[in-house]
Amino acid sequence: MSTNTPTSQQEAFASLSPAVMRASTVVFDNFEDFVQRKQRQPDGFSYGVTGTPTARLLEQKVAQLENGRHCVIAPSGAAALMTTVMGFVRGGDHLLVSAACYGALKSFAEKWLARMGVEVELYRPDMGADIEALIKDNTRMICMEAPGTVTMEMQDIPAITAVARQRGVLTMLDNTWASPLGFAGLDHGVDFSIQAATKFLGGHSDVLMGCISMNDHAHYDILRETQSILGQQVSPEDCFLVLRGLETLKLRVAAQGSATLQVARHLAQHPMVERMMYPPLESDPGHALWKRDYRTHGCLFSMILKPGPEQAFNSFFDSLQHFVIGASWGGVHSLAAYYPAALQANRAFPATDQPVVRLSIGLEDSTLLIADLDRALAAYAQAQTPG
Ligand SMILES: *Cc1c(COP(=O)(O)O)cnc(C)c1O
Repeated sequence: MSTNTPTSQQEAFASLSPAVMRASTVVFDNFEDFVQRKQRQPDGFSYGVTGTPTARLLEQKVAQLENGRHCVIAPSGAAALMTTVMGFVRGGDHLLVSAACYGALKSFAEKWLARMGVEVELYRPDMGADIEALIKDNTRMICMEAPGTVTMEMQDIPAITAVARQRGVLTMLDNTWASPLGFAGLDHGVDFSIQAATKFLGGHSDVLMGCISMNDHAHYDILRETQSILGQQVSPEDCFLVLRGLETLKLRVAAQGSATLQVARHLAQHPMVERMMYPPLESDPGHALWKRDYRTHGCLFSMILKPGPEQAFNSFFDSLQHFVIGASWGGVHSLAAYYPAALQANRAFPATDQPVVRLSIGLEDSTLLIADLDRALAAYAQAQTPG
């Protein structure tokens, strides 16, 4: 047979490094195997779109980290969120989405799902068990994210999942900020724990990926089918990068977390900083929930500066020497991003009407990062009174 299966010599080769196995076509020993190939799902291999051994290895490792039985990977964090919703939500269903959820998920719900007959409702991220009042007979799923994107609102996840289970409503949690090491979503009753592996899991700002972890086998079956029907295949090279990232995840989360706490504490007492948005700080409204449920400090926080003209923000960002200006987060290089006031003010249940500065802390020397921010804040202060 003219296939590229390993020779016995290759089979005897054992490497510590996972093999990168590529496939569109998977070949079959005989006619019967080919005819029955769909029965190999959700775990087996029948065509490249449902995954390769490299993808399965990564799925197993992520499921283990999330303390779950199953995982389905997707080509980005955004794809993981949309695939989860698409797997279970249909026209006529009611969908509850936290107002602090990732922007693309809210846009997908409001611009696509709502036009396909789904009743979409955004809820206050801090409502906890009170969410019961919003649950209807046709409520299918609650989409949570904690802390919320950009504005960092905490949610009482165990309280929400308890209500949801009682009422037969599915729950999904975007657990990217905490990583699986920081919060055990599935142990707290969440049906689907989502990671943008682009962030902490990959860890080096060079790959996009998403992961959906769960315990229920029937859910896994549905999501494998959804992933494959939507054509959400993940390259084995990208799987390799995330597998490699996982090797240092614990060290990076610990080192970046303690540096982040140090930088945040410094900024919290800086005269040009009006408000910190970072649950590990005692002053944060979500601190008690963070302390009760979370085990790590994350590497991402937001802050609101003393009000100033746009020109002052220009000075702040252009003074940075160690922070790089850019979107995304969770890699080993520190990043700074800016979210204009209008974006926040126009949100449902806005957390602020001021511009937000968001910082991701990497593995650089934290004293250099603090000096960099002090310099940028001095430039910001100076630009308050132009001329
Ligand atoms: C970045 C991010 C996403 C999207 O991940 P991509 O891989 O960039 O699509 C989703 N949720 C959160 C909380 C994120 O930070």
